[in-house]
Amino acid sequence: MCRSSRRSAPRGAASCPTRGSTHTANDKRSRAVVRLHVVPLPSLQLKSFGTEGSDRNVSGTRWAPGTPVLASADADIVLSSSNNIHFHVHSQLLRHASGWFKTLLSLPGPSTPQTEPDVIRMDEPTLTLEALLCIASGMEVPALRPIDFYEDVLLAAEKYEMPGPISIVRIALSSNLLDAPPLRVYAIATRRGWNDEATAASARTLEMDLFDPELEAELTRIDASFLMKLLQLHHSRRQLLQKALDSTEVYKSTRIYKDSAKESLYVCPVCGVTAIRTDWLRLRYDLPSRPVIPSVSTLYRDPTMKEMSKATCSDCRKNVYDIISIVEQIVEILECLPKCVSLS
Ligand SMILES: [Zn+2]
Repeated sequence: MCRSSRRSAPRGAASCPTRGSTHTANDKRSRAVVRLHVVPLPSLQLKSFGTEGSDRNVSGTRWAPGTPVLASADADIVLSSSNNIHFHVHSQLLRHASGWFKTLLSLPGPSTPQTEPDVIRMDEPTLTLEALLCIASGMEVPALRPIDFYEDVLLAAEKYEMPGPISIVRIALSSNLLDAPPLRVYAIATRRGWNDEATAASARTLEMDLFDPELEAELTRIDASFLMKLLQLHHSRRQLLQKALDSTEVYKSTRIYKDSAKESLYVCPVCGVTAIRTDWLRLRYDLPSRPVIPSVSTLYRDPTMKEMSKATCSDCRKNVYDIISIVEQIVEILECLPKCVSLS
């Protein structure tokens, strides 16, 4: 407990804020503010949120340590960010929105009357704290980008036991406004049991090569059991695709013999000329083993398919493959493949 005048540490906090000065509990009750009154200074633009790392520079304003950025004339609490930017807020807001602060502020303070608001030193940087307070106070929800900033705000809301902001931040995760990396969204959502968001995020990984070394850092954020589900999804898609491409129906549309004794044999339906064509055989094995299985949209642009569409009979020049029929068959197969993990 860093607040020496209080009795015990609040629960659930990863780290404890400290206070520069304190008031008695009676003093606080007499100054209780019913209506929230958090006023941003003119220089503060909500669109500037999410520039984590440039924490001291918002809307071109370089904040000096101790500068009040959210101010209310009758605020009774000052929250100081990790880089010493002050937010003047009402304790009533914090009690209402945060279980952590409700516990902290219910503890008795010193008996000596105070003339200045309490200062509570926080671990969070300015933008994170600012976003959290804006959400908690019903102000415009900031753009929670990039995903690191989003996660910082979410972790802070969880740390301070703020169910309202957590629910709003959760909605932002599935919003189209948050163009977040799907693996990170999957990691965030699975860790919290947010199954709908996790399922949707898994569907957005289908065009990713999960064995790409550049994704290693993101993959390590995912809990092992849920990472396994994701890998199983990608693996099962490959297996099902491989099996479906070997079906008699698909072979019919290729005009290539499936019989192992005559594999790759092509008989021209017009002139009867025979030839050995390995194009389809190569494609059949290649499609499921590619780092990324083609989607319906990319299949039409597939270079191998384009090459096959140009193959003609050496005698009558009829197209060897009914490429439209082949594409339709593969599209049908792709649409039947599982598209997301099952977490229910
Ligand atoms: Zn022919």
